Amino acid sequence: EAVVNRIAAGEIIHRPANALKEMIENSLDAGATSVQITVKDGGLKLLQIQDNGTGIHKDDLNMVCERFATSKLKRFDDLSTIATYGFRGEALASISHVAHVTVTTKQENSPCAWRAFYADGKLKPAKPGMSSDPKPCAGNTGTQIVVEDLFYNVTTRRRALKSPSDEYNRILQVVHRYAIHNSNTSFTCKKHGANTADVHTASSARTLDNIRYVYGAAIAKELLDVTHTDDSYNFSVDGYVSNANFNTKQMTFILFINHRSVDSSNLKRAIEAVYTEYLPRGTHPFVYLSLDIEPGNVDVNVHPTKREVHFLNEDKIIESVCAVLQRRLADANH
Ligand code: ADP
Ligand code: MG
Repeated sequence: EAVVNRIAAGEIIHRPANALKEMIENSLDAGATSVQITVKDGGLKLLQIQDNGTGIHKDDLNMVCERFATSKLKRFDDLSTIATYGFRGEALASISHVAHVTVTTKQENSPCAWRAFYADGKLKPAKPGMSSDPKPCAGNTGTQIVVEDLFYNVTTRRRALKSPSDEYNRILQVVHRYAIHNSNTSFTCKKHGANTADVHTASSARTLDNIRYVYGAAIAKELLDVTHTDDSYNFSVDGYVSNANFNTKQMTFILFINHRSVDSSNLKRAIEAVYTEYLPRGTHPFVYLSLDIEPGNVDVNVHPTKREVHFLNEDKIIESVCAVLQRRLADANH
C-alpha cells in the first residue's frame, strides 16, 4: 500500500516547483499577507514556506496530511467552486508520501504554537519511541511548512528532474506569478543561507509595482493595461501586456483564472496571433492576464498536475479578450 500511495503521490507532485505551488495556494487560502520561502538544492533538500495566515487548529493537525481531508468545504460552499480550485485535500497528503514534512502552526487565540511531523499521510514521532502527538513550541500566528528530502523514496522521480539550478528557476517562476497576481501579499524567496532574497515584493503594492519588483523597471515602463468587463459572457479581464519584446525565447504568459494559476493553450495561441499583427516576427512579449469567470463555467474535470483549463464559451471569451488586446496594441502603435 505504501508503494501504491507513493506512486500516486508522484503523479500529483512532479517536482519541487509544483509542491511549492500547492503550499503557496494554501497560504493564500489561509489569508496570508506575508509568504516567505526558503529553498535548498532546488527544493530537493529543503522547501520551506512561512506564512502569517490563520494557522491550523491543534486538533486538526492529525489530518492535514490525510488524503481527501480538506477544511475548505465549509468556507467555499459552492461545490463547483471547490472543484474548480482543486480543493481536494490531496496536496499535503501527497507530499508527505514522498518527503519528510514538519508543520509548525499557531492560531491567533492559541497561547502557543504546535509542531507536528508527518510521514506517509500520518503523524509520526519526532524521534523513534516518542509519541507522535503535536508538541507545543514558540511561534507567531501563521503556519510554517518544511518539506525535506523530496522524493527521497522515489528514485525514478528524482532521476527525471533537472539540475538543482533548473528546479530553482522553476520555483522562482512560480513565486513570480503568485507575487505579481497577489498584490496584497508580500512574497520573499531565497536560497537557504543566502543574505538577500531573489524575489522580494511588498504587501499592498500595485500590480505594476510588483511586476517592477520582479522583472525590473524597464519592462514595467513598456506595459499596457488591459481591463474589460463583458456582460454577454459574464467575465472580466485585468492585466498588463508589453508592447515590445520581453524574452529572447518565448512569450511570457502568466494567466490566472479565478485567482488560480492556470494554462490555456487556446488563449495563448490566440494572443500570439494578435501580436504578429503589431510586433515584428521573433518578438516575444510579456502577458499577464487575470480572468474572472463564473466558477460553474470553468471545467472542473482537471487532473491536479494539469494546469490546462477549459471553460464555457471559450471561443467567445478568447475572441473578446483578444479584441481588447488588439485595441490596446492598435492605440499604442497607431
Ligand atoms: P486542500 O488545500 O485541497 O484543502 P491540502 O492538502 O493542500 O488540501 O491542505 C490540507 C489542509 O491543510 C487544508 O485544507 C488546510 O486546512 C490545511 N492547511 C494546509 N496549509 C495551510 C496553511 N498554510 N495555513 C492554514 N491551513 C493550512
Ligand atoms: Mg491546497
